[in-house]
Amino acid sequence: MQTIRSITKMQKASRQLAARSKTIALVPTMGNLHEGHLSLIRCARKTADVVIVTIFVNPKQFGPKEDYKKYPRDEKNDIAKIKKAGGDIVFIPKATQIYPDDFQTYVTVEKLSQTLEGKSRPEHFRGVTTVVAKLFNITRPDVAIFGAKDFQQSKVLKQMTKDLGYPIKFVIAPTVREKDGLAMSSRNRYFTVEQRHQACCLYYALRTAREMVKSGIKDVRTIKSEMRAVIKATSPKCKIDYIAFTEFDSLKPVSKASKSTICSLAVCVHNVRLIDNMRL
Ligand code: AMP
Repeated sequence: MQTIRSITKMQKASRQLAARSKTIALVPTMGNLHEGHLSLIRCARKTADVVIVTIFVNPKQFGPKEDYKKYPRDEKNDIAKIKKAGGDIVFIPKATQIYPDDFQTYVTVEKLSQTLEGKSRPEHFRGVTTVVAKLFNITRPDVAIFGAKDFQQSKVLKQMTKDLGYPIKFVIAPTVREKDGLAMSSRNRYFTVEQRHQACCLYYALRTAREMVKSGIKDVRTIKSEMRAVIKATSPKCKIDYIAFTEFDSLKPVSKASKSTICSLAVCVHNVRLIDNMRL
């Protein structure tokens, strides 16, 4: 496996691969890899000749009060994990290369970026779409793989891919969970054992919503109130940012839940902001 740190070298490598008619699958990550990331790499392995994984903690997608500086970084172990999961190239650019001093061009997806996470984290998606557009331009993939764990992000990026006409097949892979249901996340490392247990409140609430819909309860207000109770019973001091029921594709809010509804939520557990979602 090859590690590339320079944009010019990465561009050259992807152009050479294309010249040899090799298809490329791209898996963008912020590193500190867990089984969720590795599932995307394994999925990529099945879809193209060459798998490029990027590690870049993108400063533009963190708000001023968020954890950019303390975000866990573990490059050496990440490289070993990518190799084992079937990656061919790992691209690790520096922030100063991606965003030189005179950087001033951004990509924004309008409507889909404004709801849910976009309301709580105003600049977040602009940072995500800008960096992913740059990574697409540098690596020129045929396939790009993202996780359903960040459901809204996958929708925003899919829209960007379509709107900007990138000739890229867009794949959304399922969320990988711990045995107790907690969605795997690099931020789970911040928790003590007891806090980690409380972090399951998001999954318990989503499971409750799904069971209620299955049993015929459709009223979103009723389901939300039960979800809040489940969250507070599991993690009494947590702060619920939002619980939202939306249409799967448009992300427009619904008042009656159905099988095509997606429930998304964001909860701060011991000052760690977690997100999760489930199709009902
Ligand atoms: P991140 O490193 O958090 O930016 O995530 C990189 C990619 O991995 C994104 O497409 C995420 O949606 C995906 N991802 C993160 N956690 C999971 C998970 N638990 N299951 C599946 N995909 C995930």
